Amino acid sequence: MPLPSVPGPRPAPQPGPHRPEPPRPEEVHVLLLGLDDLAAALAVLLLRCGVLGLNVNDGSPVAAPDLGTGVYRPADLGRPRDEALRRRLRALDPRCVPVSAPELFPGALLPGTVVVRSTGHVRPGGGAVWAEPALDPRHPLVSLHHADGALLRWPTVPWAHRPCPDCLRATLGAREPDPVPGGPGAVLTAWARPAHAAAVAGGLAVEVLAVALDALWDDTLESGGVPAAQRGAPEGPDGRWPRARLLAPPWPGDGTPLELDRGLCLCGLGQA
Ligand SMILES: [Zn+2]
Repeated sequence: MPLPSVPGPRPAPQPGPHRPEPPRPEEVHVLLLGLDDLAAALAVLLLRCGVLGLNVNDGSPVAAPDLGTGVYRPADLGRPRDEALRRRLRALDPRCVPVSAPELFPGALLPGTVVVRSTGHVRPGGGAVWAEPALDPRHPLVSLHHADGALLRWPTVPWAHRPCPDCLRATLGAREPDPVPGGPGAVLTAWARPAHAAAVAGGLAVEVLAVALDALWDDTLESGGVPAAQRGAPEGPDGRWPRARLLAPPWPGDGTPLELDRGLCLCGLGQA
């Protein structure tokens, strides 16, 4: 009787570059500047993904709109955002000892560091730069900018090339007008705001992990004697700077691409 055919042994995996062991999420360090409800949800998601090195910074008080994603609670209203978020993170995972001290954030020589900045809109003529800590200019920056109900995701750039308010204003100038006030689109946008913020936070968490892993992976290969890929300012598929994305509620998704406009930049940060 013929034996039923069984799959044969799988071919042995080919030996790759020497890699002692894959990086772990505990090696990722994230500095958060600005802790609105979306950024707070991002911090919680990163913790859920195993990131324990969280440095959270924003001393402004928790306000009613900050309760949207459910990280801050009504009892936190009026408390400093960073204090409330630290307490929440510790309660979720006792291994996490978050701090609020940018000066304690490791330098970019340690692979796996990412800076996340979430800022609000600045009025025209309201100043060229925010109050910002002195950071290693090589840290990758994942930045999100809130502007009149929309969210602008600037491409990931080194901290040295972070967008200033003039760059953000000029880039946002090319966007489509908002939905008609009072129409169903505007009503859905208002209803869905917490859901949209939570979805955007989820996407950003994956982006932050990918940016950190990129550096950690290169570092692992370097220690195994394999040269790392060329690092530097990220480039778009056509060799130009990548575009920003307008993440307008209510629908989460990839967003509308916007060309970066750094032509009005007076602070020099836009110079690659
Ligand atoms: Zn600028």
